[in-house]
Amino acid sequence: MTLVELPSSPIICKNLSKGTWHLPTSQEGAKLVSPYTGTYIGEVKFSTKADIDQAVAAAKEAFPKWKATPIKERCTLIFKFRELTLARLDKLSNLAAAEAGKTVEEARAGILKGLEVAEYALSLQNINSGGIMEVSRGVSCEYRREPLGVVVGISPFNFPAMVPLWMYPIALALGNCFILKPSEKVPLTSQLIGEIIVEAGFPAGVFSIINGSRETVEMLIDHPDVKAVGFVGSSPAAKAVYTRATTQGKRALCLGGAKNSLIVVPDADPKVTVPGVIASFTGCAGQRCMAASLMIAVGNPDGIIHQIKEKAATMAIGCGMGAIISKEAKERIIAAINNAEASGAKIILDGRNVTPPVGHEGGFWVGPTIIDHAKPEMECCKTEIFGPVLTIVRAKDLTEALSIDARSSYGNATSVFTTTGSVARRVAEASSSGMVGINIGVPVPREPFSFGGTKDSKFGHGDITGESSLDFWTDRKKITTKWDVQTDTTWMG
Ligand code: NAD
Repeated sequence: MTLVELPSSPIICKNLSKGTWHLPTSQEGAKLVSPYTGTYIGEVKFSTKADIDQAVAAAKEAFPKWKATPIKERCTLIFKFRELTLARLDKLSNLAAAEAGKTVEEARAGILKGLEVAEYALSLQNINSGGIMEVSRGVSCEYRREPLGVVVGISPFNFPAMVPLWMYPIALALGNCFILKPSEKVPLTSQLIGEIIVEAGFPAGVFSIINGSRETVEMLIDHPDVKAVGFVGSSPAAKAVYTRATTQGKRALCLGGAKNSLIVVPDADPKVTVPGVIASFTGCAGQRCMAASLMIAVGNPDGIIHQIKEKAATMAIGCGMGAIISKEAKERIIAAINNAEASGAKIILDGRNVTPPVGHEGGFWVGPTIIDHAKPEMECCKTEIFGPVLTIVRAKDLTEALSIDARSSYGNATSVFTTTGSVARRVAEASSSGMVGINIGVPVPREPFSFGGTKDSKFGHGDITGESSLDFWTDRKKITTKWDVQTDTTWMG
């Protein structure tokens, strides 16, 4: 059975710097194995300070011309990039799936979702005209959005194409020069994206790729010519990056992990709730920051829980649900399930010893798992497991459900399944999460609505996509003008 095409020969990753490809010069690096099979598919070496200096210098050199290029011309290149990406959708989806363990369909959906941000960036040529108004007789105030210069984006493993797409189309459309530091676990998709960028004709230095790990991120943040840092990854790393960047006076917006709740009330429609909950906790094998992780069951929803369990048990491993990113991640997920069991919760669906798909026995697999009768103070209710694991806690009423939801240290998403408008409204108003779903298990806003959570799911102000990101990637310059035809003296001189 072929679930995904692995690269026909191992791919050795390179940096894209000054418009050309270079091998990173550190001896340190990582071997890449496909989560589907555990087999070697490539290698990435990490970048040294010299590699970073070279890429940042090239980006800095490219910046004045790129900034002076009219936004409509910049968008022409983004449009070309979008067309070329769509033309390579099959190849890109397959590569992202092969290195990240997603199903090919999930990888494809992620790329298309990411391209929506590129489409939003294209619309900026028509709506990002700044503003001007007469504020006093003969005096006008105008604001213009000024790009910041060299900016970097750091991405996690779970969406190799989509998460970088959240950042660079908007940053580039607004006139910045962008350096991507992909996850060292999935650098191959970014390399293909870099090839498309070069083919689209972006000038050298406008878009660069620097491979590496934590130390690479730190060197990028510390570089004096890097002005802003967009980050998406786990909360401890997000907080460390935010702190490091902002203590140096740099702009940072750092999205972190999550523990999303789904509140299911007695009047929830099973036809919507059962598939919604299952898709949310098993999609991307639970390795997404919007995955449902904690189901807060109000009243006596045993019928719905039974249906969720029965249906999730039929999930086809491999073609219906992908693999776990690494052996270590698989072991961490299993340890979390063991821990929940040892704490007194009941494992009503157990994916710990799932049978791997035929021909993929070397891969990293965990089947859908449901932990029921957990208590809010248990570790499985508080920490991000990042696997296909749904933990269920029971609440006597909506007030108790909301108080369990509010206790989370994270704030990415809260969903409610109900057929009563007032219940939906109450959850939407009371939840402290940044994104709320009503009868939707993965409430990712679409453009131009922006993406971002609260609490430990986000460090920094504003959101990473949509309208809210414009202020992140630009400064507002204010220009006040008095023309000499107006000679009156006012307090504005
Ligand atoms: P990770 O934090 O291990 O790595 C993310 C990136 O940060 C990588 O490029 C890595 O090289 C770098 N990095 C790691 N530790 C660092 C540190 N201490 N300082 C600086 N850089 C560091 O995350 P991951 O395992 O690749 O991705 C999974 C995590 O990302 C989950 O917690 C998930 O919830 C989160 N995530 C969040 C969102 C969101 O929108 N909030 C989206 C996708 C993933």
